Amino acid sequence: MAVIVQKYGGTSVGSLSRIEAVAENVIATVRQGHQVVVVLSAMAGETNRLLAMAQQLDAQPASRELDMLLASGEQVSISLLAIALVQRGISAISLLAHQVGIQTDNRFGAARIQAIDTKRLSQALSQEQVIVVAGFQGQDQEQNITTLGRGGSDTSAVALAVALHAAEAQIFTDVDGVYSADPRLVSCAQRINYLRFDEMLVMASLGAKVLQNRAVEYAYQHNMPIRVLSSFSQGEGTLVLPKEQVLAESQDSNLVTSIVHDQQQALIAISEVSDSALPALFDALDNSAIEADMVQLIGESSLAKQLLFTVNRDKLLCAKNALQEITMCNKFGTIRSRDSVAKISAVGIGLNAHAKVVGKIVALLASSEIDIKLISTSEISCSVVIDETYLVRAVQILHSGFGLDSSS
Ligand code: ASP
Ligand code: MG
Repeated sequence: MAVIVQKYGGTSVGSLSRIEAVAENVIATVRQGHQVVVVLSAMAGETNRLLAMAQQLDAQPASRELDMLLASGEQVSISLLAIALVQRGISAISLLAHQVGIQTDNRFGAARIQAIDTKRLSQALSQEQVIVVAGFQGQDQEQNITTLGRGGSDTSAVALAVALHAAEAQIFTDVDGVYSADPRLVSCAQRINYLRFDEMLVMASLGAKVLQNRAVEYAYQHNMPIRVLSSFSQGEGTLVLPKEQVLAESQDSNLVTSIVHDQQQALIAISEVSDSALPALFDALDNSAIEADMVQLIGESSLAKQLLFTVNRDKLLCAKNALQEITMCNKFGTIRSRDSVAKISAVGIGLNAHAKVVGKIVALLASSEIDIKLISTSEISCSVVIDETYLVRAVQILHSGFGLDSSS
């Protein structure tokens, strides 16, 4: 009898009828003879609704209290599912993270799971109960409620799967797997059968929204396979696995496996930056928890270069404020910004050391007169920043240019 951890996202539990559908899915798994642990997100839109309420009272709500508030969304969905299961004659119990013993550090809003005490879980499983756990939350050493960052239920599911030695962590969502591009932008995008952890990690960090980045990291560290499935349709989904297993499973020889985009980017350009002033500048960003990406320093003079980088669009104002403060004491030039840029990346393990890929991306975009503002490459990805207006066209051009369209 295997332990199966199934996580259902917000849209999968977005209404009472969806919750009933999840209950049927869980029961089908129980009937196959498995011990089932279910992890839920809050009902669709709920976390945003709670966040908006807090922000009406304070633009930057106290982080401890915000976690207390946001964690409440999951309490609603887990109890509703447990009610639906019990009504169907299934023995089920809903549990909050502190009842399960999910211990985290105390970084409110971005807490990391440190340990899970499996005593209560094992006890309930041995009594053949279906356990429905609140995702996204944990408890720190002082018994404060913490949250794991947006999309954090994925990480809860992976961590529970690891703690319970489950065969795999099944992540049920509204798409039936990970695609070669966002199917809403590219109608001929294809579902990918197998992905390597490192590939999925790069995709998630470059903007693929199917899985939370940290969930992939956690699975990677602990070798826990993740299967992405749809709660709306049947299918095998996408299986994310260690390298060796993917090599054995996959026949795919394409250089690029997917085109990922991130629409939430903003570009910052600072003029007349001297080399010696750079540390203060990055410290200022770091102190405000802002990640600078696609960093480029242009110019020959060590006294006056141009610094370009992108930040998450939500953080643009915060970044400008942080920079403004130190500009005065460090005598930088002007700070200019643009909030309507998008980052598009080609990702694939086959890309490794293929300089040709960069040339091909540049040529494909140039042929459509799409101006590239920044380029950066890593071992298995190549990213460009372009004006957001051209986003859809650029993703489509690259997807077909790299032979990923389903008809090719
Ligand atoms: N409810 C949380 C969110 O909306 C966590 C999750 O869905 O994974 O971010
Ligand atoms: Mg999610």
